[in-house]
Amino acid sequence: MQYISTRGGMQPLPYCDTLLEGLATDGGLAVPEVMPTVDGETLERWRALTYPQLATEVLGLFATDIPREDLARMTEAAYAPFPAEVVPLRAIDDDITLVGLSEGPTLAFKDMAMQFLGQVVEYALERKGSVLNILGATSGDTGSAAEHALRGKERISVFMLSPQGRMSAFQRAQMFSLDDANVHNIAVAGVFDDCQNLVKELAGDLDFKRAQHLGAVNSINLARITAQVVYYFWAWLRATDAGGWTELSFTVPSGNFGNILSGFYAKQMGLPIRRLVLAANENNVLDEFFRTGVYRPRSADQTLATSSPSMDISKASNLERFIFELVGRDPERVLGAWRDLDSQGYVDFTAELARFEEEFGIVSGTSTHADRLATIRSVYEESDDVIDPHTADGVKVAREYVESGVPMLVLETAKPEKFAETIREAIGVELDYSAELRSMLDAPQHVTEMADDASALRAFIEEHALR
Ligand SMILES: *Cc1c(COP(=O)(O)O)cnc(C)c1O
Repeated sequence: MQYISTRGGMQPLPYCDTLLEGLATDGGLAVPEVMPTVDGETLERWRALTYPQLATEVLGLFATDIPREDLARMTEAAYAPFPAEVVPLRAIDDDITLVGLSEGPTLAFKDMAMQFLGQVVEYALERKGSVLNILGATSGDTGSAAEHALRGKERISVFMLSPQGRMSAFQRAQMFSLDDANVHNIAVAGVFDDCQNLVKELAGDLDFKRAQHLGAVNSINLARITAQVVYYFWAWLRATDAGGWTELSFTVPSGNFGNILSGFYAKQMGLPIRRLVLAANENNVLDEFFRTGVYRPRSADQTLATSSPSMDISKASNLERFIFELVGRDPERVLGAWRDLDSQGYVDFTAELARFEEEFGIVSGTSTHADRLATIRSVYEESDDVIDPHTADGVKVAREYVESGVPMLVLETAKPEKFAETIREAIGVELDYSAELRSMLDAPQHVTEMADDASALRAFIEEHALR
């Protein structure tokens, strides 16, 4: 299996060679040259597998350049920090079942992909005999998932910028309590956009980037997308009976279109998914796109800070992979769409609108702060289950799309403990932290404070980077 760019300007590359770069060399995103497919017989055979075994099968279709036994070792190691089931399912009412993706070290679904990414990037670096210094900016979840997945690795170090004083106490503790020598937390005097601009400036300086072996593990990373495909198969196998070729639907709390893209890939691979329901919060550029066919990214100051902060996006970096399929895998039409965006501020796919649902099964909806609170409350009252605000956005929109006879699975993208304030506001309950979480919250913190200054960051990286 080889990977090509959505913009058509990259020589086909094997899986491992796409991992260490952010974008493809032509500015597009890496996609499989041909989407692998899975037939019904294979799917039935997969019922008996454990999560890591299933991950080896599914990822083996994408990572054909990695020998099976190596892949099996990596998936075992990646999912060892999780409970035995890895991804448990639990019903909250007659219609809706939650898919528990947040059982990993940082209590959010990003662990599912990051844990595998940590394994496979280290492996690819070993094969090449090189090292990688990850430079990233985070407003919370991504940074901590990356650090927990990459801590202690020999060939990787992490430089993670975060806006000083703007993360929750819980998020700070999750990142800053790590004391591994290869993890560098940098609190920048500024907001998230300032952090991101620093990353862009340094990564855009190609000489510096090469000399310091800089790389990224953001949401467009192909290892993350492919690792996420696995749990759609897992959830389908757990929610259907043996031999039952039942279609079911998934609702996905969405931001950068990474998680739901993996569901879209699973559907294209032949997994019987009826609908993929995209749930957005108030920053609903994607809901707008799937309802109207017009994609109009917003500016940073049009982007609201909400109580489901990991879905606060102004544009969706993975959408290009969907558009690539929408336009029949024609790179010229992808480039044309972005030219329209540059010249008029939006892309118009109204002519294709009917295909979004009919052909691809994608529908969407929006949830607001009031919806989130009401949904957390109603789930708590009906089933005694506490769900986090992002999952609540999912449940709210899922309820609008429940069809009789079609199971509806909602992806649980985080644990409520991460968002204790919103939970208190919704149901007046103080969540009990486990002993492990309490000791993390009380642990000494390791962070370097820095001005919003690219030359200070350069000097820090030059001093601490692996080479
Ligand atoms: C990252 C994140 C999302 C959004 O996922 P995308 O892949 O960006 O669409 C939703 N919920 C939580 C808790 C997250 O951390």
